[in-house]
This record gives sequence, structure tokens and C-alpha cells, in this order.
Amino acid sequence: RAKHSGRSTFVWYTSEMDAEAQKRKEIEAGLVKALKFDQFELVYQPQFSLHDNRLKGYEALIRWEHPTKGTISPDVFISVAEDTGLIEDIGDWVLRRACQEAATWEDKSLRVAVNFSPAQFRAGETQKKVAKAIAESGLDPRRLEIEITESLLIADTDAVVETLEDIHALGVTIAMDDFGTGYSSLSYLSRFPFDKIKIDRSFIRTLGRDIGTDAIVTSIIGLGRSLNVQITAEGVESQEQVTLLRAAGCDLVQGYLFGRPGAVRQGISTMSAAEAPLSRPHPDAADQT
Ligand code: C2E
Ligand code: MG
Ligand code: MG
Ligand code: MG
Repeated sequence: RAKHSGRSTFVWYTSEMDAEAQKRKEIEAGLVKALKFDQFELVYQPQFSLHDNRLKGYEALIRWEHPTKGTISPDVFISVAEDTGLIEDIGDWVLRRACQEAATWEDKSLRVAVNFSPAQFRAGETQKKVAKAIAESGLDPRRLEIEITESLLIADTDAVVETLEDIHALGVTIAMDDFGTGYSSLSYLSRFPFDKIKIDRSFIRTLGRDIGTDAIVTSIIGLGRSLNVQITAEGVESQEQVTLLRAAGCDLVQGYLFGRPGAVRQGISTMSAAEAPLSRPHPDAADQT
């Protein structure tokens, strides 16, 4: 077979690579179609305040509704979109759709958080696109939040600071996503106009079961307080985690315990009693009540 394909025996050494490259090519072709035939959708995951137990907003998360393969997760296709430049069009779509949908929500106090890839920033024009999405949807800019990861901050720092400040000046809030997983230079935190830091769910996962993790999470929350930046815990799945986060002074929570990404639940404004230990105090949290 190697002979017929006109390739050397290297085929045997690279077949795995070829398969991976082939798969990415297929995803790329699929993404072009997905854009053309409107196969993307946004699902929303609620974010609650631990101070008053109230719903504060939703994070918009993209899904690819493939006609034959079903729902495809962003973990499968975002990196392909980034490598091929398709992220620009997909990101534009996400931004516009999230603003449009949030503008129709009954509760006009709720925020919508949109994930941005570093590649979207490099494409430039970010501030203009954000301003346009706001203007076209009629969404109050203070209801829009942009989530970025630390990887954005590594290259071209001055340009990124400027872009983020332009976006911030529109009234849009900025959150640092997946905090603690990247290069985490603490100096970033004071240089960039962040309103929020989201502690990566890998830390939340071992909270209460690992002294090191507990110390890190407590420190990040303390850092947030001194920098006057709100702290969100991502990936909260258990009541025990909520109790610890509440005791540490964490501001916001998001995770399967409070709701999986899905449709926006109109009419819900507080977390349910089962998730709100303030109304059902845990012995360890006694000093918090
Ligand atoms: P992220 O921004 O950190 O989003 C949180 C991810 O954690 C989501 O995965 C969410 O479903 C998942 N999650 C939430 N709560 C829990 C929990 O309690 N336990 C566990 N195990 N997981 C939880 P999802 O939706 O698959 O998204 C994965 C990543 O893809 C996102 O991570 C984000 O980096 C990226 N992404 C999603 N939508 C977009 C988008 O519109 N644009 C861009 N550029 N990236 C996106
Ligand atoms: Mg996010
Ligand atoms: Mg995250
Ligand atoms: Mg992530």
C-alpha cells in the first residue's frame, strides 16, 4: 500500500500523525459547513453569588449540533478553529448570538459571559466587534463579560492591555478564565483590567481533600480581595466544596451542582435551598453566619 500511495516507508512511522492530521482536516471542513448551515448553538451555565445566593448571570458555551454525529463539544473543535483561523468567524458568531439572546432575557440584570480565544484578539478589531455586537443587540454593555485565558497575556502585552482597556471602557467586564493553569505571572493581575478571576476547576476538584489545593484556593481568594477583583469558582460539584468556598470568602460559583450548561431557566433568581447552606448552616461554616 505504501508503494501505491507513492510514499516512502515513512508512512509506517507517521501513520498515527497522519490519522490525527486527517481528523483535523475533517473537522476543519465540517466547521466551514457548520458556519454556512448554522449548526452552532449556545448553551448557558448559571453563575450564583455566594453572598446573597442570587443568580448573577450565565456563561455562554458553544455546541456544534452535527447533522449525523450529534452534539460535538468545543474541546474537540475549538483548537482546530484556532489553528485554521476559523475561530474568527465562529467567535464573531458567538459574540453576536450571546448578545442577542441575553438582550431577550426577562431579567435585565443578568450578565452573559463570552469566551474569547487569544487568536480572536490577534485578529485585531476586537473592540470594534464588541461595540458592534452591543449596538446591534441593544444589550447594556455592563451585562456583557469577556472571558480570556492567561495564554493571551504572554505575547504582545502592550497591544493586549490596550485592547482590553478599550473593551473595558465600553462598560464590558473582563474575567480571567482557568486561572492557575497557565503561566500565572501574578504581575499580570495588576497590569490588566480584570474584574473577575475564575479559579480553574482542577483546583476545585480536590478542594477539601488536599491541603495544598486548599491553600492555593484560599490564597487566590485573598488575592482577589486585595486587588478588588471578584473570584468565581468553576466546576463546583459538591455541597462540601460550596461550604469551603463560602468560608474562604469566594464571591461566585458555577458548576454542575448549580446547573449544567443548557437552556436559560426563566424565572429562577436564587439557588435552591439544597445548594444554599446559609439557610441550612453547616457546622464548619458557623463563623460565616
Ligand atoms: P471554560 O470556559 O473553562 O468553560 C467551562 C467548562 O467546564 C465547560 O465545558 C463546562 O461545561 C464545564 N463545566 C462546568 N461546570 C462543570 C462541573 O461542575 N464539572 C465539570 N467536570 N465540568 C464543568 P465546555 O462547555 O465543554 O467548554 C470547554 C471549553 O471550551 C471552555 O472552557 C472554553 O475554554 C471553550 N469554549 C466553550 N465555548 C467557547 C466559545 O464560544 N468560544 C471559545 N473561544 N471557546 C469556547
Ligand atoms: Mg470560560
Ligand atoms: Mg474555565
Ligand atoms: Mg477551559
